[in-house]
This record gives sequence, structure tokens and C-alpha cells, in this order.
Amino acid sequence: MGGQARRRRAVTVLTASAVSVCLVAASAPAVPLGIGDRLFPYLGNPGYDVLSYDIALTYSGRNDRPLEAVTTIDARITADLDRINLDFAHGTVRSVEVDGDPAGFTRAGEDLVITPEDVPDEGGRTRITVRHTSDPVAAEDREGGWVRTADGLAMANQADAAHLVFPCNDHPSDKAMFTFRITAPDSRTVVAGGMPAGVDRTRGTATWTYRTGHPMATELAQVSIGRSTVLRRTGPHGLPLRDVVPTAHRADLEQWPAKTPAQVSWMEERAGRYPFETYGLLLADASTGFALETQTLSLFERDLFTDPALPAWYVESIMVHELAHQWFGNSVSPRTWSDLWLGEGHATWYEALYAEERGGRTLDDRMKAAYEASDGWRADGGPPAAPRPPEPGRRIGIFRPNVYDGAALVLYALRETIGRRAFERLERDWTTRHRNGTAGTSDFVRLASRVAGRDLTGFLHPWLYGTTTPPMPGHPEWTSDDRSTTPALRPVTPGHRPDGSGE
Ligand SMILES: [Zn+2]
Repeated sequence: MGGQARRRRAVTVLTASAVSVCLVAASAPAVPLGIGDRLFPYLGNPGYDVLSYDIALTYSGRNDRPLEAVTTIDARITADLDRINLDFAHGTVRSVEVDGDPAGFTRAGEDLVITPEDVPDEGGRTRITVRHTSDPVAAEDREGGWVRTADGLAMANQADAAHLVFPCNDHPSDKAMFTFRITAPDSRTVVAGGMPAGVDRTRGTATWTYRTGHPMATELAQVSIGRSTVLRRTGPHGLPLRDVVPTAHRADLEQWPAKTPAQVSWMEERAGRYPFETYGLLLADASTGFALETQTLSLFERDLFTDPALPAWYVESIMVHELAHQWFGNSVSPRTWSDLWLGEGHATWYEALYAEERGGRTLDDRMKAAYEASDGWRADGGPPAAPRPPEPGRRIGIFRPNVYDGAALVLYALRETIGRRAFERLERDWTTRHRNGTAGTSDFVRLASRVAGRDLTGFLHPWLYGTTTPPMPGHPEWTSDDRSTTPALRPVTPGHRPDGSGE
């Protein structure tokens, strides 16, 4: 790294015109940048690829006060840069170092704009260390990020809120390895995504380290701090499972995570081997109104499991939804947020298949109801693969029915067309081919065509991008109506929606 910086200095000294260009650029006002995501133009930043995050947080014991934090980012530079923009919008920045040297910084929009003496050349590596606070109290106009629970904190960063918690390149197309080092009072237990890598105890506090074994998107980071009990068990082929429950509610809750091993096996039969090193449920003592597939440790609100109005098959189908995301959305991340349907559509698909097996709610009935509502969903939220941007200030964001049952309906239409065997092969090929990567809608259309042995572009594009719903293969009698006010297809708020809209 140092070598890269020195080489850069030599080049600028030799090239007078390059020097003046640099000076002009450096004195221009700092501006927020993005990578051009149609739905979230301010997310992500050009010119580098994060390899790893090391996030150190110190929790005081109160969840209404900012945590002290040090975030260290190792990145590969992918373009000639004069500055490095990170996404960071909620917290105080105390200092920034780049490759060991103090660096200037300023805020612009939701970006932290860093002006090092030198940025390594394209292809070089850099280490950025930001000392900052991480504030669990939401800004008035911007929720998400930390979730304050009855006994501590958890994270819910999807879709665009990781940069309210730590500085990062906050877009799922830039996955990286994560290390979490969390210091908390002895009264709390800390569990984060990935595997434990030690606990250091000193005078009333403990520092817990966790590391991911696979790359992860910032939106999927999870850190749980609470008065918690960790339940351990073994899943299929020795997969280590650990669940986090509030100690005070353990007796009411521990029957639920016991269902996970059988659910992992059920998913593995359909989507191939579980893609990560561990899994488990984080049952948070909080009313979130949603669950979230944070990588290797899915977040659920306690109420989902204790509400007597909810049948067991329904609760289990929501557990399967978040589990299915570990393959669809986590191991295979969306290339852009317009590809969200690939995660939510598949998670809804397996949720529905599980509900059919366990709850007797037939997939055909659910898809017929979805078909009836589909034109309305497309009118409200856009077609599944070209959703409307989130409306400012509205919590519903991009998580609308068009990407849940509306997208599962696309998968149903595809299965009706290519047949069950080809469809099931496609699902396994998809999770294998793009494992630990990112993939978009065009990749899915291409792979579906290959598996089916014919070009499906002409069939799938109207389903994915049309303003109205095409005829359903095999069910010409199904109709859709954009004025339809089809009631919710589930008994309550879908447990997985990160918006808490209560719809
Ligand atoms: Zn989901």
C-alpha cells in the first residue's frame, strides 16, 4: 500500500499537467456520489471495491446513547481517484486515516468525503480507518439501521440503512468480508453474523469477535447485543446452528428455533447445499413489524412467535422465507435494487410451498389470488423487475407486493411453461452458479433459457417488465384487475418486510 502511494507521487511530479488537473479537482466542492442505482442513486460509490470491513463498537449499556466505533476498510482501488467517498449519514466522525496517515474529510449529502494526501493508483490497495460514533437513536426523517430492543440493540439495515450505522460502500453489488469486535458490559451477550472468534474479558466488560466465512452485503450485517441466551444445536451434515433469545422469554420461545434443522434440510432438497458456515434465529425483544434475513442470523420480532392468533404453519412459513433468503438474496445478492424481486420472489415462493405442505394452503390458490391482484400491484409499485423508486418519507420503500407474491407469480408462470423438472434444476443451478456473488435479472433470464433449452426472453420480459400481467400459461381463465382490492394474502403483515408499514 505504501508502495502504491509512493509510486503515485513520482508520477505526478513527472507530469506537470497531471499535477494541475489534480489541484483543480481537489479544490472543487465535495459532492455525494453513487454508483447509479436507479432506485437509490446515492448508494455506493465509484472507484473502489471493499475487500473487508473491521467494525469495532463499544456499547455502554444504554441504547439511547451513541456507541464509540472504529471502522477499518480494506479496499482495492479500481479507478483513478482524488478522493474516496464512503456512505455515512448518521453519527459523528472524529478522525480518518488512510494508509496510516491522517486524512482530511467532509460531509456531503449522505457521503463522507475523504481527501487523503494520495490515493493509490488503480489496482492498488488502501486501508481507511474511521473513528466515529454510531447512534442508535434514529434521525427524525430517517429510520432503519439500529433497532433498539428492550435489552439492547440489533440491526436492520435493508435496504439503504447500513450507512446509518457504520461508514461503508452501501450497495449489495460490493460484498466484502466482515469482522465485528463488540465491547459490552458483562451483563450482555453479543452475537454477530459469522462464526465466533474469541471473547476477551476485562474488568466488567467483554469484547466479542465474530468473522464471516463468506462475503456479505452491508445491508445484511447483524450485531445483537442483549440480555440473551444462545441456544446451540447441530443441523444437517454438522451445520452449526445458534439462536439468540431474550433470556427472560426463553421458555416461551425455544420451541421455535428447534424447527430450523428440518427446515434447512427441506430447503437443501430444493436449492442445494446451505451456502454459509452457520445459521440461526435472532428473536429480538422488540416490535419491528418485520423480519429480516441478516446473513447467517435472521432477525425476528418476539411477537411473531407469541401471538396466539397466528397459526404455527404461518409462523414456520415466515421462518422458511428468511431461511430461503440465505440462498436467494444473500449468497446470491442483487446486482441492483431493481433485482430485488429475485430475492423476495424466491423467498415468497418457498414460503408458499412450505405453507402448502404444512398449512394446506395450496400454491395454486395463492397464485390465483396473486394473479387477480397483479395488475393493481403493477400499477402501484411498477412491474416486478422495474419497481418504482421509494417515495421520500414513506416507510414502505421498495418492499411492495409486486416484488413478493407478484414476483412469485412470475416464477409460477415460468414453472408452468418450462415444467417442474426444468424449473427445479434452474433453482439449483442459479444458487450454485452465483454462489457468493451478485446477479441480476438478465442473468436469470439467460440461465432459465439455457436450462429450458430455448430462448425465454420473449416470454419472461412481459412478465418482468410489463405494466399489465400476461396470460397465465395453463390457466387462461385467470383474470387480473388493477382496481382489485384483494385483501392481504397473509393473516398479518408479512413478517419479512423491512418497512413496518403494517399493510
Ligand atoms: Zn423477504
